[in-house]
Amino acid sequence: MESFQKLGLDQRVLQGIAKLGFETPTPIQEQAIPELLTGKRDFIGLAQTGTGKTAAFGLPLLQLLDFENKKTQALILAPTRELCVQIASDLEKFADGIRNVHIVAVYGGAAISRQMDQIRRGAQIIVATPGRLIDLLDRKCINLKEIDTVVLDEADEMLNMGFQEDIDYILENTPDTRTTWLFSATMPQEVRSIAKKYMENPFELTVGKKNAGAENIEHVYYLVQARDRYLALKRIVDFNPDIFGIVFCRTKIESQEVADKLIKDGYNADSLHGDLSQQQRDKVMGRFRDRSMQLLIATDVAARGIDVSNVTHVINYELPDDSEVYTHRSGRTARAGKSGISIAIINLREIGKIRQLERQLNRKFKHERVPDGFAVCEKQLWHLVHKVHTVEVDEAAIAGYLPGINDELAELSKEEVIKRFTALEFNRFLDYYRNAPDINADASRATGGAGAERGKSRSQGNYGTLFINLGSADGLDAGKMLRLLCDVAPVKGPQVGRMDIKGVYSFIDIDRDAITSVLEAFNGEMFKGRKVRVDLSEGGSKSGGSRRSGGDGERRRDDRGDRGGDRGGDRGPRSGGGRASGGYHDRKQSAGSGGGGYGGKRDGERKRRRD
Ligand code: AMP
Repeated sequence: MESFQKLGLDQRVLQGIAKLGFETPTPIQEQAIPELLTGKRDFIGLAQTGTGKTAAFGLPLLQLLDFENKKTQALILAPTRELCVQIASDLEKFADGIRNVHIVAVYGGAAISRQMDQIRRGAQIIVATPGRLIDLLDRKCINLKEIDTVVLDEADEMLNMGFQEDIDYILENTPDTRTTWLFSATMPQEVRSIAKKYMENPFELTVGKKNAGAENIEHVYYLVQARDRYLALKRIVDFNPDIFGIVFCRTKIESQEVADKLIKDGYNADSLHGDLSQQQRDKVMGRFRDRSMQLLIATDVAARGIDVSNVTHVINYELPDDSEVYTHRSGRTARAGKSGISIAIINLREIGKIRQLERQLNRKFKHERVPDGFAVCEKQLWHLVHKVHTVEVDEAAIAGYLPGINDELAELSKEEVIKRFTALEFNRFLDYYRNAPDINADASRATGGAGAERGKSRSQGNYGTLFINLGSADGLDAGKMLRLLCDVAPVKGPQVGRMDIKGVYSFIDIDRDAITSVLEAFNGEMFKGRKVRVDLSEGGSKSGGSRRSGGDGERRRDDRGDRGGDRGGDRGPRSGGGRASGGYHDRKQSAGSGGGGYGGKRDGERKRRRD
């Protein structure tokens, strides 16, 4: 606290800092606060979010303003409503020891009349998105003539979003005597020209290297085929049961689709993008902030500047084209000195992008393999066991039920009870992942392509076709058939090719190396009281005929998986009633706020034009 005092901050402001538990100033605070407290000089801070820049400008601002006076004295412009809300909320906290502070956040997508009322009641600080501020200016609700300080936060992003004209208009409507504090993660020409046009001899401060990712972020990539992206995402999430993460997509549609699929598959996820109404976005952010949701699926614009503590993982579902966007994304984790992991799920063609990012960020990316089903199950099992070990028991609530429970389970030994409770949750993962295929793409295939490789092995005749006297009439679909094969015979998922399930019989392509063992394993096998007969189908050549479900080698794997394995069409280990073991809320709850209709609102107030 002393170190903050040394920067020149007074008691009232120090009180807020103490309450927040800040002990030492961050580098930008240390250097910016004494300069900004003079209240006289324009200022440029080249800093990313996560550096503590909100306090760097917020604390001096609060000290400089006259809160006995109700007039609007400071204006903070930020690119998105989320950031506006966050800045306003941070300022409220910093101002805990100051009386009569009125801060109002105004942004598009929310009722303007309410914001007008709040402003009319007197707000010394207005935090605004440029578009909404101009609406309010046009309605003569805000008077900028007595503004002392204008803060432009994330200036580069505001310009990226097309707010140049709006910023010009706003700054032209503020007095020449104002001081301007500009913060930007990067300094493109457009930001330079704003500084040149509206600022006088600014004090410039650079914190951290431009484009440098935070030191405490580990960068990891997983290499899969493009169509396995979603499966890889699920496996990564399942392998990290305590994940609290943001999944970045490139488009609103994609983020909605990924969120919808995750919700359907039983994950506690929701989407955040510009097609949601303000109310929906607030709700989603609220749930994410209070951690009642585990995965936020977001677009870059919507998630811009979001500061939620303890985000463990950022997942690039699709990599952005721009390394700065990647840096912004990964900066959502490892905040305030914590560490975090930034993951990219990429396909073979995108390895070049990783190398480029490595050069630009001067950081090494680690290639990790998508965990196999066994590894996921093991991880989930231990997670579950740990949860059982550490769960807080509400003794009073459960006491009344215990005699009945004990009665019911009386004949089971302790070991048996443990086994059964574990199996209850764990079976779902075991079932789902039992035959999950390896979805890692092989980097050595980068030139030929995975499809080419599969085609080759087929044409070389690596599969033979088996006839089996079981089919849909026996209640078997491709998934169940695969499970049966793997249960009875020593085969693994990848050794099983295309299946053609008929009514009372089926044809199954099996890796030639495994055929003999499958034939042997089924010898004498019974299914629902019926003897199973498996034979080598005469002339594997027939296999190209009508009983095939068509497609190439790639498709074959899909056919199987869609129905039975770790594939897009199934519902995932978390679906099928009840809660999954990762501490997830039940699907209905997620779906309630996630799948909701679109409100037709835009991301931020993108590319708003005053005319
Ligand atoms: P910002 O860059 O303003 O988005 O801040 C990033 C995070 O760092 C926020 O969660 C702040 O609450 C936190 N923070 C800012 N300054 C400090 C400080 N001096 N000590 C600890 N945490 C801080």
